[in-house]
Amino acid sequence: MTEDKKVALVTGGSRGIGKAVAVELAKSGYITLINYASNDAAANAAVEEIKQAGGSAKAYKFNIADPEAVKEMTDSIIKEFKRVDVLVNNAGITRDGLFIKMSGENWEDVINTNLNSAFYVTKPISRIMMKQRSGSIINISSVCGVYGNPGQVNYSAAKAGLIGFTKSLAKELAPRGVTVNAIAPGFIVTDMTNGLDKEKMQANIPIGRLGQPEDIVNAVIFFANSAKYVTAQVLEVSGGLAF
Ligand code: NAP
Repeated sequence: MTEDKKVALVTGGSRGIGKAVAVELAKSGYITLINYASNDAAANAAVEEIKQAGGSAKAYKFNIADPEAVKEMTDSIIKEFKRVDVLVNNAGITRDGLFIKMSGENWEDVINTNLNSAFYVTKPISRIMMKQRSGSIINISSVCGVYGNPGQVNYSAAKAGLIGFTKSLAKELAPRGVTVNAIAPGFIVTDMTNGLDKEKMQANIPIGRLGQPEDIVNAVIFFANSAKYVTAQVLEVSGGLAF
């Protein structure tokens, strides 16, 4: 691993959107570091897929909702690679249910994993980006954070928080050459949306189909590689879906 090669870190990069993003970043030349929580087989398969495609990858198992674990891992990443050029805050979970029945545990798990994690991971990574005077931070929010969605008060609150985080941090880091943007996906076909009624969802999407992870990949690659004069933005990638 050389110091001059660019490095990308994708949280939740072992499955779904994160995996597709990791593979494409690796193909576009980044040493790609993927984080995951528990599914070793999926993480190993993602690393193998990147290697088969001629890329360079390494998997890091840690819970992004645990500040100590994040510190340990980001310290070791910075020590080994000396730089991080792209951070995709992608890992996320759902614990859906009507607000009136929502447990404190389901509220906290979602806020910790989907929002507080961005604070834990971005802090050390943004520090090295500021030193480099370059970098791109891309936060994966959701249309739920923009429009709201019944049954997802916890998830929508976390994803809306991520949008405020994006806009404010972008203004702080812009003078240091670091861009911060968010992507708000609509319904994307992954394990996360597996149990949902796809026909019902599709009926509300003007483009007439559910999204694929590759649809989000295109937006990430735009922010990471081309959009040097774009910051503090939220790009909805949803087939035109508006609640
Ligand atoms: P997914 O298929 O369920 O994959 C989730 C990934 O996040 C996995 O790699 C998982 O690792 C990892 N992860 C979960 N909790 C973690 C934790 N505490 N620490 C570290 N890694 C963790 O999800 P997805 O559909 O690709 O979603 C990716 C992002 O897009 C999420 O932020 C989600 O909210 C957002 N999003 C998705 C949709 C959609 O329709 N799919 C729509 C809008 C927004 P393990 O396999 O080890 O658990």
